[in-house]
Amino acid sequence: MHALNLDAMHAPEFSEYVNTAPAVVAAGEFVVGIEFNSREAVIASVKEYTIRRGVDYRVYESEPTTFYAKCVQYGTSCHWLIRYCWAIRRYNGSHTCTRSTISQDHAKLDSDTIAEAIKPLVEADPSIKVKFVIAEVQLKFNYTISYRKAWLAKQKAVEKIFGGWESSYEALPTWFEAMVAKEPSAADETMREFDMRYQRLCERGEAYKQWLDRIPRQQYALAYDGGHCWGHMKTNLVECINGALKGACNLPVTAFVKATFYRLNALFTRKRSEVEARISAGQLFSEYATQKIMSNQRSAGIHRQRPYCRIRIQAHTRSNARGPSMSLQSYLDARHNDRYMCLCQAEPQLNL
Ligand SMILES: [Zn+2]
Repeated sequence: MHALNLDAMHAPEFSEYVNTAPAVVAAGEFVVGIEFNSREAVIASVKEYTIRRGVDYRVYESEPTTFYAKCVQYGTSCHWLIRYCWAIRRYNGSHTCTRSTISQDHAKLDSDTIAEAIKPLVEADPSIKVKFVIAEVQLKFNYTISYRKAWLAKQKAVEKIFGGWESSYEALPTWFEAMVAKEPSAADETMREFDMRYQRLCERGEAYKQWLDRIPRQQYALAYDGGHCWGHMKTNLVECINGALKGACNLPVTAFVKATFYRLNALFTRKRSEVEARISAGQLFSEYATQKIMSNQRSAGIHRQRPYCRIRIQAHTRSNARGPSMSLQSYLDARHNDRYMCLCQAEPQLNL
């Protein structure tokens, strides 16, 4: 099995083209002549500047290489304006206007701006709750946004990091085909193993073959069940790997399938190493199971069980153990939750 790099699935494919953070403005104000690496970067900087100061601007020109905006109170109480064309060409200095009304939200604090601000949080935990997004915005921008805006921002952040929600459905079959093309032997191997074992059974006699042929193959052979795991307690299986799947929900479908695949691959690779180490150390069961078995063996030495009703599954259990509220010899014949419970609280049945 190949070692898989879990971080690689999130690595940008063309890192040299990824926008860097907006250029820092000197002393909290923009400076004429300062260059930004893109028009989007200058707009992001102007937005953040505006939100932090609680002011607002109106856009007068927005072309692929230019951006021109003025304060909403330009000409009355303020002369703030900014003009960008490859670099900042004109800037009138800080706002002289004051915030007219105290608001809990800001017109320029839209879901796209918030999505950009919470990207590191969402990348670390795609299942992050919306209330934590609201708290993060409160901390960063000092505004309390609505639940709807926070939810929308989180969805957009997930889309920016893991790819579009709709396009993800289109990408999934391609990814599956690529995986099958990479490891075509996995399915064939299961079929070959089934055929080999089936032939061995047939060689034992016609009666065995006829008996097995009466059972639909999808009910007992992994090679034929189409991945449905017939008869398995799937809920229990999922509980066993819950830790590996944690944080993989709330993702676009392809990212979700990839995360599940890579995490389970890493989990089973680790488990295989652990089991191999135990086997080579001469252990038959896990550490936990071994301790349970030894503990039960010790207590079993003081119990003697004699079944007296096989239909009702009842038995006498005789114990020589002395407990706080029992006599020297105690008897119990009740069956409770599939366990034979003795008055000395010992459990003859091994529960793992
Ligand atoms: Zn102003």
